[in-house]
Amino acid sequence: MRHIAVLPCDGAGKEVVPEAIKVLRAAGADFEFEEFDVNADSYLRTGVAISDEVWRQVSEADSILFGAVGDPRLPDAKYLAGVLLRLRFELDLYVNLRPAKLYDDRLSPLRREDRRRVDLMIVRENTEGLYVGMGGRFKQGTDDEVAIQEDVNTHLGVTRIIEHAFGIAQREVVMVDKSNAMTFAGGLWQDRWKAVAAGHPKVKTRHLYVDAASMQLVKDPSQFDVIVTGNLFGDILSDLTAELIGGMGIAPSANIDPASGRGLFEPVHGTAPDIAGKGLVNPVGAILSASMMVKHLGDPHMADAIEGAVESAIRAGECTRDIGGALSTSQAGDAIVKRLR
Ligand code: ATP
Repeated sequence: MRHIAVLPCDGAGKEVVPEAIKVLRAAGADFEFEEFDVNADSYLRTGVAISDEVWRQVSEADSILFGAVGDPRLPDAKYLAGVLLRLRFELDLYVNLRPAKLYDDRLSPLRREDRRRVDLMIVRENTEGLYVGMGGRFKQGTDDEVAIQEDVNTHLGVTRIIEHAFGIAQREVVMVDKSNAMTFAGGLWQDRWKAVAAGHPKVKTRHLYVDAASMQLVKDPSQFDVIVTGNLFGDILSDLTAELIGGMGIAPSANIDPASGRGLFEPVHGTAPDIAGKGLVNPVGAILSASMMVKHLGDPHMADAIEGAVESAIRAGECTRDIGGALSTSQAGDAIVKRLR
């Protein structure tokens, strides 16, 4: 039996993770779930984001099912860095997969029918870039303040994420950077891109600057298969692609280290403080993340069954308000569960 560490954390995370577990159980997953008390309340009480004992247990689990982290009472980034960024960095979960697939035409904001066939994957570098927290603020709070945020890109980090993108592409890999303006980091990405691409002559390749990629994603997202990019651009573009398929409530993600097999699975959305706690949050992003976990742990058939149940519930309009239904969070979970029985 697989041991799954469950970290719902805060806000919407607390509502969507139980739905994901409900669906995994209905699908017949042979998992033992263990929930850990990692959240803003305990951080505010103890000053510790993840205790050493919890860290040991979570890092030894077969997989991590994660909700969302954040709290209006904690405006600085220390808590986020102490939970999600620490898990990504220290467990070396360097691949962040953010798929975007349109399950029902009515959820697309695009006017042209022929451009709505969205089924793409953003492969985001997850352990480097501008998110590593290097830099500082000098003369903070004065008119002379200087702020520096370092963009860290390594030969190893860039190479392995581009390799991963080629490993999963069916049609084409598009590499997205801003190498015309950010020439040092961009230069390394360009060098590694060309070197790795040369080893995969059968896969079509294309390079786009991030501004052009944003434009093309809105203009005709059906042209994309796999997009590989750095931490910041992947974060931004995946919010854009989430909107192309129906919104933040249904976008899933996986954070994985292909070498060790470790993974953390979480919806793309955050804590949704504007709607959390009212039974309004859509559990689909978390449920599809759980389906990605099942696939990662070696059961693609069960993953497909969960995805199929989600698609069927969405098409039937048995879903939450954000995607045109009238169900509560747990009723939307039930609509998926009944399709698995
Ligand atoms: P955080 O600071 O935790 O990232 P946020 O509000 O900045 O929170 P999200 O939580 O991603 O960012 O929310 C962005 C928007 O998407 C909000 O309007 C929110 O209500 C909506 N949203 C997010 N998650 C869901 C969901 N599961 N179901 C429905 N709407 C959602």
